[in-house]
Amino acid sequence: MRTMTLSVSLLNFVKGMYKKYQNRIGKRVIHVESPHYNPEALVKYCQKYRPKCFCITPVNYDFLNVEYSAGMSYEKLGRFLKDIYPQMKEAGADLQLHVHVSQLPALLPIERKRALIENAFKFFKNELGITPTEIIFGWFSWDKEMEDICKGLGLKVVTWSPYIYDRWCEGLL
Ligand SMILES: [Zn+2]
Repeated sequence: MRTMTLSVSLLNFVKGMYKKYQNRIGKRVIHVESPHYNPEALVKYCQKYRPKCFCITPVNYDFLNVEYSAGMSYEKLGRFLKDIYPQMKEAGADLQLHVHVSQLPALLPIERKRALIENAFKFFKNELGITPTEIIFGWFSWDKEMEDICKGLGLKVVTWSPYIYDRWCEGLL
């Protein structure tokens, strides 16, 4: 009986802490990297919490297909994102950039880094009509060269802060 009371109060404590985390910080920032998982839930979530969303772009279509089974061509992914991101913005989200470059950036030629970052930036500007001001790199992995490229585009590299993934949104509605 005593053990049961203890475990119930421990469970309530953990639940309470999680709720606090979600309410105060966790819900404010989302890494959007599998928006195809449940686009409706993602838009609903944006309506409810007006989060800042760091969003994947077509430059990472290989990553999306390998990591999250997006199963889309480059063109199809572009069309899908051009449909879902304006809906999220309309719902109240602040859309910024999320780019996966490399877990070992020192080994990657600067041209490749520049192409990934600049093309992601261009997708936002030209296809969404949004000028992003912040970027979070995938795996929180970047180097000085990437930082300089971002500086040239007026992008601030955001370091770690509490966040959730887009695929978790449906469970929090
Ligand atoms: Zn990511």
